[in-house]
Amino acid sequence: MADVFFGDRFVDETQALLPVTTHALHYGIAVFEGIRAYRTAEGSAIFRPTDHYRRFLKNAALLQMQLPHSAEDLTALTIELLQRNENYGDTYIRPLIYSSSTKVGAHLQPGGEKLAIMTFAWTPTSFPPSVSTATYSKWRRFSHVSCPAGAKIAGLYVNSALAIDESKRRGFDQTIMLSAGGEVAEGYGANIFAVFGDKVMTPPESADILAGITRDTLIRHFQSHKVLSMTVESIAPDQLFDADEIFLCGTGLEIRPIGRLEDRVIGTGGIGPITTEAARWYRAIVTGTIPAPDGWRVRVVPPGPRK
Ligand code: PMP
Repeated sequence: MADVFFGDRFVDETQALLPVTTHALHYGIAVFEGIRAYRTAEGSAIFRPTDHYRRFLKNAALLQMQLPHSAEDLTALTIELLQRNENYGDTYIRPLIYSSSTKVGAHLQPGGEKLAIMTFAWTPTSFPPSVSTATYSKWRRFSHVSCPAGAKIAGLYVNSALAIDESKRRGFDQTIMLSAGGEVAEGYGANIFAVFGDKVMTPPESADILAGITRDTLIRHFQSHKVLSMTVESIAPDQLFDADEIFLCGTGLEIRPIGRLEDRVIGTGGIGPITTEAARWYRAIVTGTIPAPDGWRVRVVPPGPRK
């Protein structure tokens, strides 16, 4: 059995239990993160943990939840958890901050927030990644005028769950959601990029998206590209049918090419050259075979005797 961090200590996962009256369970008042660690030549490397934990703390503050930890403390705690679980391979890390109050009432109840961190063995997608089909969801993204649409707030994921469920029922692998205003927004748990000739585009934050860390990683990659131009701009649903390539991206999904959107084949229907290059580069940056900016890969190795 694996350990988890629960409240203020490490416990066996079977001991990390909550009362059924827990506020977060009734009203979705919790914030989570999805972080990956990849096997590298020496131990594993957590990808951009401080950026994930900064987002986590910022999103928690939106629900008036605060932790006595900095993003750096949370990264150190995560390293310790991986070491305790002797997990030096490919791993998914799930931090959660939740409202642990047991009082009934949909108002925010600051003061009762608790932290949990869980880890799961997780295999990276095969390379080259498989090609998916996608549909436009009938469910639009929550608007940022109704809620903080760009935050990883647990309750908001009912929107994603409805969208992917509907698409699966219609026989598609993935879903593409529009913003409340009708622009292309993103997948149910991943951002979207489209390639038109030598131009790469991704929707702006104003399209009710959750601006992911993978999206940011790839925007920087494409901005430094010698041949391609990278723009963050609004994409109309009809425009996407004419893309040469479309792919979704996120920590969990990594890079996922879309070969068919509704009844229309995108490009050749397979994985295009720019998506292939992006997926190869992304795999290299997360697994440590090419240099990365400071702080992007945080190594986890067995704790050794201090020298
Ligand atoms: N959008 C949504 C709705 C998500 O849940 C995620 C996954 N966190 C993303 C985009 C991608 O974000 P990231 O690249 O930070 O994983």
